[in-house]
Amino acid sequence: MGARLLEGKEVADRIGKDLAVRIAALKEKGVVPGLAVIIVGDDPASVSYVTMKGKACQDLGMYSLTVREPADLREEALLHLIDELNRDPKVHGILVQLPVPGHIDVGKVIAAIDPKKDVDGFHPTNVGKMLIGEDGGFLPATPYGIHVMLSAYGIDVAGKHVVVVGRSNIVGKPMAAMLMQKGIDATVTVCHSRTRDLKAMTLQADVLISGIGKALFITADMVKEGAVVADAGSNRIDDPSTPKGYRFVGDVDFDNVKEKASAITPVPKGVGPMTIVMLMSNTVLAAEGSLER
Ligand code: NAP
Repeated sequence: MGARLLEGKEVADRIGKDLAVRIAALKEKGVVPGLAVIIVGDDPASVSYVTMKGKACQDLGMYSLTVREPADLREEALLHLIDELNRDPKVHGILVQLPVPGHIDVGKVIAAIDPKKDVDGFHPTNVGKMLIGEDGGFLPATPYGIHVMLSAYGIDVAGKHVVVVGRSNIVGKPMAAMLMQKGIDATVTVCHSRTRDLKAMTLQADVLISGIGKALFITADMVKEGAVVADAGSNRIDDPSTPKGYRFVGDVDFDNVKEKASAITPVPKGVGPMTIVMLMSNTVLAAEGSLER
């Protein structure tokens, strides 16, 4: 293997230890950081993400509330529930697991969350703060985790060409917004499904970040020799050789790309654990912020 392995799991474990100290300090002041997660419907992937988030809270001694609602929940009822959680002092962070069923307006739902409790960082107020480079908001956990992980490995993106593949509101767009900020100073290109000649773009990347949702899509011929590769993708593929009959792979063809890259995240245990720990970090930050109000 040529590339250095960027082990998100190890970085996340270290961050978790720092969080434990901050949580203990909050508890001494009578505050237990609390995260409420709302899930509408029973999509298996969403259920598994929600379970992981609840477990992460419990492992850190935080208060965790999971609200499971049926897929036919009315939009008004969801907005009412969010309103209640906005006013609940035990809850410092609120997230609605996405996607929500089609009859619910996701924009309305996100806008209903108190920006001070929007630990996913999806509320327009927090997105705006991120874009203009203002402190005091919450950064979306997946791109935030990627940036923190790169920094933890001493990978400085300043002046480098970062190519982000994917422009979703939860991965690609916030990733680009974060890395282009003054002081972080990457030169960022964002690609998507309408990009002409994607390979010509990805081959220019000093740092290539993928959030597409297509298994093993980024192949070695799309990667420049010595590039750093971060893979946010998490895609289920059939694998009869495993006990469950399936496994998760990234967007990147890891086995071949690792021979060309200088550093690369694995899937699993790469970006995934960083996402969870940054969500916990945002919740602790929200709890600390509640002391100042
Ligand atoms: P999404 O909303 O479906 O967005 C996918 C993006 O990829 C879109 O911008 C799309 O372009 C682009 N895309 C799709 N096919 C493409 C192609 N052939 N060439 C170039 N661009 C292409 O997905 P998402 O929610 O951002 O998730 C992306 C991946 O990240 C998924 O595998 C998801 O499971 C994973 N994820 C992981 C974590 C984690 O914790 N590790 C967290 C969140 C998401 P258009 O905009 O043109 O459609």
